[in-house]
Amino acid sequence: MSDDVPVLRMESVRKTFGGSVVLRDVDLEVAPHTVTALIGASGSGKSTLLRCAGLLEDVDDGAIWLDGEEITDPRADRDAVRRRIGVVFQAYNLFPHMTVLENITLAPRRVHRVPRARAEQQARELLERLGLGARAGEYPDRLSGGQQQRAAIARALAVRPRLLLLDEITAALDPELVGEVLDVVRDLKGDGMTMLLATHEMGFAREVADQVCFLDSGAVLERGTAEQVFGDPRQDRTRRFLRRIV
Ligand code: ADP
Ligand code: MG
Repeated sequence: MSDDVPVLRMESVRKTFGGSVVLRDVDLEVAPHTVTALIGASGSGKSTLLRCAGLLEDVDDGAIWLDGEEITDPRADRDAVRRRIGVVFQAYNLFPHMTVLENITLAPRRVHRVPRARAEQQARELLERLGLGARAGEYPDRLSGGQQQRAAIARALAVRPRLLLLDEITAALDPELVGEVLDVVRDLKGDGMTMLLATHEMGFAREVADQVCFLDSGAVLERGTAEQVFGDPRQDRTRRFLRRIV
């Protein structure tokens, strides 16, 4: 895929829940090999935006493209699209009744029809890379929260997604476990993975994001480079939000 075409593009996306507007006219572009951070108060629509991007929610209006293909087109193969997007949530990402290795090989084997031996080989390589080489045979409840989130990232990566959506993946972790998960995201950025993430870790967003979008009541109120949004916010509301949170 050409590097000129955004991996993700949203145009005038609108989403309502029971009459209340949760996303209003959201425009967003995520260029290949870049990281976009969504920031904003709780309830501002970050998770909903990610869920719409991952086709886990239907939009009410507007359109979304993945690699130049309109995925909100009613004729789009939604399951095929979902297989090109990796998603990691705040918590409870792993199937508790499966080992780490089984969690990671599930989608490659069942959905992508990768033979078991190869799927396991790839899973072990991923686990090694994420510092979980010794944990392949464990069940999730034997892992720390940070290890679980790293395993969840490994699972999302196992299908070689075009785009990773990360929704506050450190929010449920004890503070001392946050760093190891953020390190993985840094590594993935170094490898050129395209990511769209929601985070309350402002220092991290500032460091890792190429683009920062501030959401306010479902609208992208401000967007720019991390330098611009954090260093010199244009909107009063952004300024107030950053003052409160930092
Ligand atoms: P954030 O992730 O920024 O905290 P969300 O996207 O979770 O924000 O929520 C945005 C708004 O949408 C909130 O007012 C929330 O209550 C509402 N909302 C989210 N999901 C649903 C849902 N499934 N049904 C009804 N309202 C929802
Ligand atoms: Mg959220």
